[in-house]
Amino acid sequence: MITREECEALDAVDPLAAFRKEFALPDGVVYLDGNSLGALPARTPGRVRQVVEEEWGRELIRSWNEAGWFEQPYRLGRRIAPLIGAEPEEVVVCDTTSVNLFKVLTAALRLRPGRRTVLGDGAAFPTDLYIAEGVTALFEGARSVLVAPEELDRHLDGDVAAVVLSHVDYRTGELLDMPGITARVQAAGALMIWDVCHSVGALPVELGAAGADFAVGCTYKYLNGGPGSPAFLYVARRHLAAGPQQSLSGWFGHARPFAFEPGYDPKDGIGRFLTSSPSLLGQAALESSLDVWEQADLTAVRAKSLALTDLFITLVEGLDGIEVATPREHARRGSQVALRHADGYPVVQALIERGVIGDFRAPDLMRFGFTPLYLSHTDVWDAAQQLAEVLESGEWREERFSRRGEVT
Ligand SMILES: *Cc1c(COP(=O)(O)O)cnc(C)c1O
Repeated sequence: MITREECEALDAVDPLAAFRKEFALPDGVVYLDGNSLGALPARTPGRVRQVVEEEWGRELIRSWNEAGWFEQPYRLGRRIAPLIGAEPEEVVVCDTTSVNLFKVLTAALRLRPGRRTVLGDGAAFPTDLYIAEGVTALFEGARSVLVAPEELDRHLDGDVAAVVLSHVDYRTGELLDMPGITARVQAAGALMIWDVCHSVGALPVELGAAGADFAVGCTYKYLNGGPGSPAFLYVARRHLAAGPQQSLSGWFGHARPFAFEPGYDPKDGIGRFLTSSPSLLGQAALESSLDVWEQADLTAVRAKSLALTDLFITLVEGLDGIEVATPREHARRGSQVALRHADGYPVVQALIERGVIGDFRAPDLMRFGFTPLYLSHTDVWDAAQQLAEVLESGEWREERFSRRGEVT
């Protein structure tokens, strides 16, 4: 078995170790939930305070022009582009993942007139499925059909307009073959929409190289943009050139928003996917976390992520009642480890009390996210040790650990 001293030796040569000081994490906590809400970058409070006190408080409405507020959705999009393998003009930051999926899906259905089926993964993060239901209800004859990703090919007929899949499964951490699936979907004449919520900032995402048509993703998970920080959307340049139409046609997507014309005339380019006023405070927090990401090498992030998840799997497999639900193959693994345990909920609560923060997803999955910028090999060793002690002691059986909050 790997010892704690061996983990310390790995930390001593970790090329990403210096990033730990970029984050303001409480003492005594091993934070394994950065796949749900990323940690606070140390520089974020100062940047947000500056926007609040100076740009808003002192400069007031002048900041729309003078502090570059109006341009902020594009500026942040250009900075996210390298994290997802996109061109700077293919990405914009706005709204939420759910709302952005609504927009790209309406554009996709309009790009495939005559085709009326949207395929989604029945085990996907449900908001994606709910949005697909809502969008298809607006298009005559359209329907949303749920399939397992491994059965996708059988369903790719001439009626499929678009396929929506998560690059990494939010429950099991399984990573899908983005280039392979995209090619098969497009060979069937359909458009491929990727949800990269659980892969952006966790591994190098290559939307352009895969030839993806559209993508959406959030910034409050691995990107550390803060609770409810704005999401992003990606549209391949070839589609932008054709003038795609999305249905949330608000004034920020208008070619001349300050002409206040009664009719909608969309902007050229990615700007037509904007709808309304950007949430500048959330964007300010995201901006400062991107300052940190700009210094990180994604290849090193991926290598360390795999090392940390390998380490955790090695240390916890064989523990009483535990089954590893995450694929062992590196090519099929994102940056989290999901463990099945019949009493996963109280076990996670007992772990949290010991300072190891993970989360739980029904029916029986304990999720642990591994964020290479602020976790060390020693943290992973300590977390595995705490889990072993929680299981051995049986302390999770205490009644208070079974009481559920609104958010699990
Ligand atoms: C986190 C997550 C979302 C979040 O959607 P919001 O609109 O930000 O609430 C959507 N899809 C997936 C796959 C996610 O993991």
